[in-house]
This record gives sequence, C-alpha cells and structure tokens, in this order.
Amino acid sequence: MPGFDPFTEEHQAFRRTVRKFCEEELAPHAREWDEAEEFPRALFPRFAELGLFGIREPPEWGGSGLDYWYVVAYAEELVRCRNAGLAMAMLVHGEMAIPAIAEIGTAEQKREFLAPAIRGEKIAALAVSEPDAGSDVAAIRTTARRDGDDLVVNGSKMWITNGARADFLTLAVRTGGGGHEGISLLLFPTDTRGFQVSRKLEKVGNPSSDTAVLFFEDCRVPRRFLLGEEDQGFAHLMLNFQGERLVAAVQAVAAMQQMVEDTIRYASERSAFGKPLAKHQVWRHRLAEHLTAIEAARWLTYRACDLFDRNQVAVKEISMAKLFACDLAQDVAYDCMQLHGGMGYVLETDVARAWRDVRATTIAGGTSEIMKEIVARQAGLT
Ligand SMILES: Cc1cc2nc3c(=O)[nH]c(=O)nc-3n(C[C@H](O)[C@H](O)[C@H](O)COP(=O)(O)OP(=O)(O)OC[C@H]3O[C@@H](n4cnc5c(N)ncnc54)[C@H](O)[C@@H]3O)c2cc1C
Repeated sequence: MPGFDPFTEEHQAFRRTVRKFCEEELAPHAREWDEAEEFPRALFPRFAELGLFGIREPPEWGGSGLDYWYVVAYAEELVRCRNAGLAMAMLVHGEMAIPAIAEIGTAEQKREFLAPAIRGEKIAALAVSEPDAGSDVAAIRTTARRDGDDLVVNGSKMWITNGARADFLTLAVRTGGGGHEGISLLLFPTDTRGFQVSRKLEKVGNPSSDTAVLFFEDCRVPRRFLLGEEDQGFAHLMLNFQGERLVAAVQAVAAMQQMVEDTIRYASERSAFGKPLAKHQVWRHRLAEHLTAIEAARWLTYRACDLFDRNQVAVKEISMAKLFACDLAQDVAYDCMQLHGGMGYVLETDVARAWRDVRATTIAGGTSEIMKEIVARQAGLT
C-alpha cells in the first residue's frame, strides 16, 4: 500500500478534538476516578455531545454516519484520558453493546434503545459471559422461555462491563436447544422486575469501570425486544466480536505507544551512573525493539481496520491483530515499568497504572488462546 494513509484532514481534526477533550477534561481526574472506583455518569452525555457515540450509525438515530477510521482515531486518542477503566466503559457502550441494534434492530428498537444510547441518556452493556461460559460462548445457560407475547429470562451473567449501572443490556440468551444454534440476542431493560446486580467485581486493574455479576429471576420482557431472528444470535455475536476485538487491538497499540513515549521522556530526564538512563545502550536497544514491534502491531491492526471499514471478511486479520497487539502490550508494559525503577511501582506514575490495566487485554473480549484457535482454524488446521 504505497503512501497509504487512512486518515484525511477531517479525521485528523476530529482526532485533535478528542485529544484536547481527553487531556484537558478527563486526564486531570484519572487517579481520582480510579480511587473512587467510579467515574461520573454525566460523562456519558458529555461524550455524546462530542459525537463520540454512534460514530458509524445513521444520522436518523442520532449517529454521525462516518467511516471506521473515525472510530480508530477516537479509540487511539482515548488512551490519553489516562484512565483505562473509563475508556473501556465508553467503548463497551458505543462500540460493543449498541452496533448490533443499528445493524439488525427494528425501527422501534432503534428508537427505544439505540437513539437514547447515542445521546448518552441510556447506558448500555453487552452481557454474554456467564460464570460457567466465557470462551465457550455456545455453552451459555441463561434462558429466555416464551410465554405468550413475553419472554421470561432466568440465569446469570458475569464480568459484565457497565453492568452495575446499565439501563439496558444487549443480552445473549438461550431460546432453543443446546449449542450455538439455540442462542438469541435480546434487548433487556434493567428496570425489569426480577433483575438484580449481585455485586461489582474487585478487579486487578481498570478500577473505575464497573464489572458486574448479574442475576435474572423470572424476568418478563416483551418478545418484540428480541434483536434479530430467534435462535440466530450466535452468528450475530460472532460478527459483533469482530468490532469488539478490533477496537481492543487499536487501544492496545495506542496504549503501548503512550507507555513508550512516557518512558523515553523519563529515561531522558533520569540519570544513573553519571548519564541519563536513555544513554544506556541496553535500554536504547530494548526501546528500539519495542518501537519496531509496536509499528508492526499498528500496521497489522490498520490492515484489519481497512478490511472492516470496507465490510470485507476480516476474522483472521482481526484475531491476529488482537493476539499480537495485546500479547505485545504485556512485554512493553513490563519493560516500561522496569525502566521507571521504583517510580514504576507507585500508582502516581501513569506507567504503573497502565501496566496493571493492560493485563486485562489478553483476557477480555476473547483470550489470546481463543485468538490462536481462530487463526489456526482459518489456516486450515482442523
Ligand atoms: C475486565 C473484563 C471485562 C469484561 N467485560 C465483559 C463484558 O462486558 N461482557 C461480557 O460478556 N464478558 C466480559 N468479560 C468476560 C470475558 O470475555 C471472559 O472473561 C473471556 O472471554 C474468558 O472467559 P472465562 O473468563 O470464562 O475463561 P475460560 O473460558 O474459563 O478460560 C480460562 C483459560 O482457559 C483458556 N482456554 C479456554 N478454552 C481454551 C481452548 N479451547 N484452548 C486453549 N485454551 C483455552 C483461556 O484462554 C483462559 O486462559 C470481561 C472480562 C474482563 C476480565
């Protein structure tokens, strides 16, 4: 792709707006929100005001109708808020829980769920994983049984980002038999009787995002809230995972870039044995290796973004990008922390919090092992 630059001047202007917002309005509160284990709910309408939800969705429902490179610019700049929990919550809301409504929802569902989510009035979560079914999505057991014009939901979900304060869930339920064939998607308002947020999980990182365990006991919702065709939810979920995994790869690359830049700055200012750390060749070479690998991760990810933007099949490329970027982020974070010495181990240092937060990326949204399984299958390894 000679001279390939996916970002036009319009993308770059949008990027500058997001950067300014993150650096000026969000980053100054990064530690405070981590310590509070929460960020203000008012940030949802604020993000909406800046057009950060529904970037690709039709203007008819309040979206901006733009291409995927705007999402990439948004996700890249979002790391500058220096609060990975906030970034995760916003990306789950805008890029993981609501795109399926735009793609397969009815006009009524779009009016009732998509439009208020794009306005930041209703918070959305994507509820797929269960205590006994994470990687193995086809093993989910939460049921939605037909009763007249209603569906009655029973079961539980686990590790659900935004779960504690979501107004609705894009919920994976079992409507049919076992395996992937009996799964449906359902839009589930959380004020439904019988729904309960059991608890917020105490996590290793991303403390400002809520990650909840949810219970459903005889929860009655109208059948018109079924999203897409009954029993066809698995295929939609697999499609939805593509966007989720791609944005995770984009964020991992941006997070690595930021960690290395922070580290170069620190290593240039801090001296040991009579010279800046940055002059010690072992570290110069280590950072050069990381910068090279990050660049490779970026272009692998951009290749997947380009296919995704053009609605091409990109399962292999997206899985490779998530695998490569998220695994690499662990090595980069380790070395960036190490080069900060003692300062790398105190939470006032951005790199320390980034090291802790980046750990989730090889687990959430599909583990590295599952990405390898997908790549192997795509390569014909049956
Ligand atoms: C911070 C965070 C946020 C999350 N947010 C959400 C959310 O918003 N919505 C949601 O639905 N879920 C969410 N999840 C859940 C996440 O998607 C699952 O944790 C993930 O898919 C792994 O599932 P599991 O935890 O059940 O692990 P398991 O599936 O039990 O896997 C355990 C280990 O076994 C490995 N393994 C499993 N199968 C294989 C195999 N075939 N071959 C080799 N190794 C294998 C895995 O890679 C892993 O290392 C979140 C998780 C985290 C940590």
